[in-house]
Amino acid sequence: MKSITVFKGDGIGPEITAAVLQILKAAHAPYDYEEFEVGEKEYKKNGALIPEAAFRSFEKTKLLLKAPITTPIGKGFRSLNVTLRKKYALYANIRPARSSAVIPTPFPDVDIVTFRENTEDLYIGVEYAMDADTIHAVKLITRKASEKIIRAAFTYAQKHHRKKLTCVHKANILKQSDGLFLHTFYQIAEEYPHIIAEDKIIDNLCMQLVMHPAQFDMLVMPNLYGDIVSDLTGGLIGGLGLLPSMNIGTTYAMFEAVHGSAPDIAGKHIANPTALLFSACLLLEHTGEQEISQRIKKAVQTVWETTNIRTPDLGGTATTEEYTQAVIRQLQ
Ligand code: NAD
Repeated sequence: MKSITVFKGDGIGPEITAAVLQILKAAHAPYDYEEFEVGEKEYKKNGALIPEAAFRSFEKTKLLLKAPITTPIGKGFRSLNVTLRKKYALYANIRPARSSAVIPTPFPDVDIVTFRENTEDLYIGVEYAMDADTIHAVKLITRKASEKIIRAAFTYAQKHHRKKLTCVHKANILKQSDGLFLHTFYQIAEEYPHIIAEDKIIDNLCMQLVMHPAQFDMLVMPNLYGDIVSDLTGGLIGGLGLLPSMNIGTTYAMFEAVHGSAPDIAGKHIANPTALLFSACLLLEHTGEQEISQRIKKAVQTVWETTNIRTPDLGGTATTEEYTQAVIRQLQ
């Protein structure tokens, strides 16, 4: 049995975590779970966003399944997600978006994997006031971090028989920072001559993604663009409730849905647990449990194909629990 650290998160976090753990148990995933409350609630109760024991658990298991956490806007504590990515050097954020024939979307032919740099860019959160009316924010791009994410993307492309990697940037304006990222991309591309390497300016990419998404295979980009573009790819495949992600470093790995804590629907029993479930499938694949991952994905696909049991974000009327039980029935 492998131990997995689980953070239950804020908002819809505890509901979707419960659903995913039930499905993993029904699929006989060979895991035991060390579960922790983290985030806003935990802060109000014990004065720490992440209890020390939760950090220790992750440092021991090296594998974290994490539900979303609320981050206050414009005030208060620094994003816990950013803290975790930085503290555990989770430099690559990988977000696979694939449309399914049975989930209605105007974009039925999307199969795009986004590689988002996860440790620098504007996310270093360095801002200071030059005077009362002028704020300066620092965008940090280093050759070292750029090389790591770009090489990770090419290596993934090679392993998964992907054909093309597109570097996304704004080097026409940010000539030095994005320029360094782009230059590094083409240097590393020379080591992978069988993978098509191209680049797109971020604004053009957004337009092209909506007009002709099938032309894209894999994308690699600095942190902030990756955050925005991967939500866009979530929209292309039918919503954030479907988009999983993994955050990988050399020692640690963290698996989480791309969406946030959805406070607007928390406690209403209508959250879609699929994005966190597919993130758990990435965890299964990361730990060599491909067969269990495939079975879970097939069970979800069968529910979509053969029943109308769907949560409201996918046009259905099912509760989180009804949907979860439908997936479990397919696994039995
Ligand atoms: P959000 O992703 O939480 O919600 C956006 C919209 O999508 C909402 O209408 C929500 O109801 C819907 N939605 C999201 N996930 C859903 C699901 N699984 N099922 C059904 N509908 C779903 O984005 P937001 O409202 O901008 O952010 C809320 C909070 O989450 C903020 O504090 C933000 O900082 C935080 N956040 C956390 C993470 C993370 O922990 N990884 C990521 C993004 C945002």
